[in-house]
Amino acid sequence: MIEGIEKAIDTVIADLDSVTLHFLESCVSCGICAPFCPYTIAGPIYEPADKAEEMRYIYRKKMTIAGKVLGPLVGAKYPKDEKDLDRMVNMAYRCVNCRYCYQTCAFGIYSGKLVIMLRRILDKVGRTPSTLKYLQSVELSDSVLINDKVREKWEGILEEARKAIGKDLPLDKEGAEVVYLPWLVEAMLTPEVIVSTIKILDMVGENWTMPSEPLGFEPPMGVIVGDRESERKVFRKINSYMAKVGGKKALMSHGGTPYMEMRFEMPFVMNERPSYDVIHVTEYLADLYEKGKIRIRKEENGKVTWHDPCKLARGSGVVEQPRILVKASTTNYEDLPRGTGMYSHCCGGGTGIALITCDGRKLVEEFIGEKIKPAEWEEKFCPPLEEDYKKAIKQKIDEISEINANIVVTGCSTCIYNINKGATLYDRDFQAVHIVQYLLDKIEVT
Ligand code: SF4
Ligand code: SF4
Repeated sequence: MIEGIEKAIDTVIADLDSVTLHFLESCVSCGICAPFCPYTIAGPIYEPADKAEEMRYIYRKKMTIAGKVLGPLVGAKYPKDEKDLDRMVNMAYRCVNCRYCYQTCAFGIYSGKLVIMLRRILDKVGRTPSTLKYLQSVELSDSVLINDKVREKWEGILEEARKAIGKDLPLDKEGAEVVYLPWLVEAMLTPEVIVSTIKILDMVGENWTMPSEPLGFEPPMGVIVGDRESERKVFRKINSYMAKVGGKKALMSHGGTPYMEMRFEMPFVMNERPSYDVIHVTEYLADLYEKGKIRIRKEENGKVTWHDPCKLARGSGVVEQPRILVKASTTNYEDLPRGTGMYSHCCGGGTGIALITCDGRKLVEEFIGEKIKPAEWEEKFCPPLEEDYKKAIKQKIDEISEINANIVVTGCSTCIYNINKGATLYDRDFQAVHIVQYLLDKIEVT
């Protein structure tokens, strides 16, 4: 038996509720969800129901009489050795938590949720990829600006923003209406998005503030690695900051994990409703546009499309607002052909996956200026994951090519990274840009 596995399983099983029991009990293995999962392309063993089955083995063994008595005969077993853990970790990290399986399953089974439960068990037996573990520790530090290199990078972004607006930034100001929350992942992947958002807030005359340093890397990293306690700690830190400055709206330019988690999961995890609204910059700008407070100049600038980030669209229902803005900006808009909004296809690299490939680790190391030591088991884990990640992102790249789009506008730094990486890798002639950068020189304040 693997050391600590029973305790890890007990902790996760203790949190089962009626909804997760339904996810565990009701799959009929029909395979309908399979074609929608970005990682099915990596092989049939990575179909959503197969990944979820890893959690069901454990559940049956722990919780069902047949499983206790008949064990493997009824698909009930615990991982027994390192080989089993290798298989489980491969399954758990071939999921971007895009929720497409949830959207397409006739029984409403969210296999990605069971994958996160699997990650929770793996985390407790030392099987979280080292890059994610490192970033989780960064997020739990007193300051995410963990060394001089990262601090310099952040100060550089603030300085650029000061120059862009020609005045000091209203950092940590009390009583602002809007609190802009940029995350460290954006400073790493798309620093220009932070500067552009600040420019827009200043341009529209908003009463705004922002923290003098990011409150998390891509919070909560605990949800990505499967560590509930660290999730709570980070939510607590964000809530304390919001209480201190007294902001009414937490505004984000990053439409990934933090937006969806803070809007929908935080009230349950913290057992209290936040005193502020969580809004994405597309919601903020669409509201200004519809109230006539800004105009958007329409241009002929090649074919433009919008990529729906999974957490923003399928996870949070923000589908119309970005389209209102992008359609107002161009004479040549076309939606992506394989599905939009709740039925959009994932970019293939969210929920930490892009960062745990070999290239992803190098990117993080370059940003922090330090080496992250991989665990021994990661030597076998990383190279095939990298190959599967490339196959997963290619599906999005091919979809964009089908309509010959020149500009892919989106609202999530991770999507931008994955799409632009794919465009380079597969030699395509388009570029992904964040909506604030795309709109910056097209907005006119009325
Ligand atoms: S959440 Fe997305 S990536 Fe994960 S199993 Fe479901 S469809 Fe696949
Ligand atoms: S999760 Fe739903 S769609 Fe997927 S195989 Fe099971 S029952 Fe079918």
